[in-house]
Amino acid sequence: MASGSAIQIPSRLPLLLTHEGVLLPGSTMRTSVDSPRNMQLVRSRLLKGTSLRSTIIGVIPNTSDPTSDSEELPSLHRIGTAALAVQVVGSNWPKPHYTLLVTGLCRFQILQLLKEKPYPVAEVEQLDRLEQFTNNKSEEELGELSEQFYKYAVQLVEMLDMSVPAVAKLRRLLDNLPREALPDILTSIIRTSNQEKLQILDAVRLEERFKMTIPLLVRQIEGLKLLQKTRKPKQDDDKRVVAIRPIRRINHIPSATEDEDEEGDNDDVVMLEKKIRTSSMSEQALKVCLKEIKRLKKMPQSMPEYALTRNYLELMVELPWNKSTKDRLEIRAARILLDNDHYAMEKLKKRVLEYLAVRQLKNNLKGPILCFVGPPGVGKTSVGRSIAKTLGREFHRIALGGVCDQSDIRGHRRTYVGSMPGRIINGLKTVGVNNPVFLLDEVDKLGKSLQGDPAAALLEVLDPEQNHSFTDHYLNVAFDLSQVLFIATANTTATIPPALLDRMEVIQVPGYTQEEKIEIAHRHLIPKQLEQHGLTPQQIQIPQVTTLDIITRYTREAGVRSLDRKLGAICRAVAVKVAEGQHKETKPDRAEVAEEEDCKEHITEDAKTDSISDTADLALPPEMPILIDFHALKDILGPPMYETEVSERLSQPGVAIGLAWTPLGGEIMFVEASRMDGEGQLTLTGQLGDVMKESAHLAISWLRSNAKRYRLTNASGSSDLLDNTDIHLHFPAGAVTKDGPSAGVTIVTCLASLFSGRLVCSDVAMTGEITLRGLVLPVGGIKDKVLAAHRAGLKRIIIPQRNEKDLEEIAVNVRQDLTFVMASCLDEVLNAAFDGGFSVKPIVEHLNSKL
Ligand code: ADP
Repeated sequence: MASGSAIQIPSRLPLLLTHEGVLLPGSTMRTSVDSPRNMQLVRSRLLKGTSLRSTIIGVIPNTSDPTSDSEELPSLHRIGTAALAVQVVGSNWPKPHYTLLVTGLCRFQILQLLKEKPYPVAEVEQLDRLEQFTNNKSEEELGELSEQFYKYAVQLVEMLDMSVPAVAKLRRLLDNLPREALPDILTSIIRTSNQEKLQILDAVRLEERFKMTIPLLVRQIEGLKLLQKTRKPKQDDDKRVVAIRPIRRINHIPSATEDEDEEGDNDDVVMLEKKIRTSSMSEQALKVCLKEIKRLKKMPQSMPEYALTRNYLELMVELPWNKSTKDRLEIRAARILLDNDHYAMEKLKKRVLEYLAVRQLKNNLKGPILCFVGPPGVGKTSVGRSIAKTLGREFHRIALGGVCDQSDIRGHRRTYVGSMPGRIINGLKTVGVNNPVFLLDEVDKLGKSLQGDPAAALLEVLDPEQNHSFTDHYLNVAFDLSQVLFIATANTTATIPPALLDRMEVIQVPGYTQEEKIEIAHRHLIPKQLEQHGLTPQQIQIPQVTTLDIITRYTREAGVRSLDRKLGAICRAVAVKVAEGQHKETKPDRAEVAEEEDCKEHITEDAKTDSISDTADLALPPEMPILIDFHALKDILGPPMYETEVSERLSQPGVAIGLAWTPLGGEIMFVEASRMDGEGQLTLTGQLGDVMKESAHLAISWLRSNAKRYRLTNASGSSDLLDNTDIHLHFPAGAVTKDGPSAGVTIVTCLASLFSGRLVCSDVAMTGEITLRGLVLPVGGIKDKVLAAHRAGLKRIIIPQRNEKDLEEIAVNVRQDLTFVMASCLDEVLNAAFDGGFSVKPIVEHLNSKL
């Protein structure tokens, strides 16, 4: 495979100049390409036209100074390696570049440079031909050399751990590869400098090559021996350490008799008292604690109260009465930090900076509490964390979802068994300072129960007039919360208790567009996931088209939480493959390079085995990255979850797409209607609220009163639509309660379709409240709704005329993809919703058609 005996390379080769290493025949190397010259080569030779594999390029080690990125071509090394580019991956992150994976085929030498721009092309002569070996005069000598080389190679491999599959494989390869291929391959596997590799590259004669590589092998073997020697005693040491620990434990336990134990505990009480006296707790707290400790001293330890009191005192000592971090705030640095951590969300970032600036100027925390309101996964928590970071404060998240007992906030009285402090005090204990940033997560999901209203307790916590002496029931002494910076998050303001809402300044955080999500994924989510899974961009590459596929076909959300989860799933799958060291190529056309891959595979595995990698930091050719394309995506995540749904569902009359706003962001909503014989009943299903039911009645009334004008008839041809007819309206996804007036126009359209037998256009979505007289009134949540329609791939959106101003908030690229129809009355809605319009036919024409 390596020495090119069967390969005929072209006589003209485009030249790729590499700084990063020396490619030798038979080995594989990854190289990053970002110079204009090389980028041009990749674009015009590797990316254009047919398959990658058809192009052989010449890889020349660039020995000139890598930093001098001058326009002029540096003087070229005369000998290079003809190579196949097995993979090209492009990325714009952190700057535009390609990553090439090249496999060396054979040596060549440059005869003449044919052109320099835009990338060099040379006339070349192929070296490394089979004849060279067979015609060699001193065949015998060569035989000896190769035998000697082979022995060393085997010795080296045997010093490694044969139980590692990669090593065993390397051992097998030694026997199966042609001997003349071994020097090149082993040179790229063992630890060698680029200079040494360059020498091997220049050793065109095989004999010379064997001679030069043997010392390198020997050096590696010696290095390994030395390492094994030094490592042995260290291992023994480790064992001793392990052996000592259990003994100590055993010694300790039986020797402590009951008496001694008590004495020990008495000591502990004394220690505790000392801690109390030296702690910086408030006077009131100190008094209480000293009283408790007096009681504790008199109490027999077997009493349950003993443990309770002790726990209490320990908590009191631990609380950060006077301990705080020093605030640092530099608005410019804060801006940079917020920008670095978060893509887009400009409005929010701006508002947060203003808030921080005002706090800095006023130097106190009084004033409203910031409350970020938006769908899940849009970065609310994450911004909270960044605020803490900019201030140099500790961060703690208090989840309020489902909290319905005020003692969750304020703690239980100590008389209860199992009593404990509330979440605020607990949080303070966790962070260990009295000025953290507390994120009150999901304030809109606070419950209420007989055990008191947690919102009232929270109000007290947030009120600057009261919170300097917040009393947790468990502590029973006041604790000063005035230094804590509170931030709240919610999905909607509708369910935040009004008194609480009154204390907050609401900042809306809308959902993201597809483009924003792609950027967020590539700038933030993917790097974070790779780090969490111990992967590097050299092991896994997720192109932007794949991210888009995940966004459109595997998730349907306003934020990026599922996207993040899916990326996590991909990383897990890849991590397993990498750990197994047997990742398969995801591209089908790679079968032919299987042999090279074989070689690469053992190398990859080598890198993973401790015994080898830290022995000598072998200069291994890098492994193949796993490219996540759509096939890989399907393998890992299963078949896409969202596809063609929209057009399929609109293939019958009586279906229309509405746009709904939910606390989780905008959503498209199908409205379905059917009719049957009956007595004029209207059935509504799909968990509807009262307002929505009213919209349905309004819609029917309006259609009935306009049936003649539109020539709508029921099954028996009567224009009294409900005559002998029942109507059933359904809003699928029945688990979610839907309410609000904005479905009005959709219901009308859906029913108009049902009674006219015409299909609603499949690319239209709509929203708007209706009146009995057929006017269309403005509704809320336009931005989220538009984003949802865009996510679902719809093209036209009908919105109320008076909502036109809301479109300004929508990103230009989203607006460009969509057509908006502004409607002020239902006629306009229907005209836009049906192909060719829905307008009333003139009576004359109507008569004509009858004649
Ligand atoms: P929320 O609190 O709004 O539900 P999170 O703050 O938990 O959302 O965000 C979920 C994930 O998405 C986090 O890992 C967060 O860092 C990331 N994320 C969300 N928005 C952005 C953004 N604009 N830029 C970078 N990362 C983001």
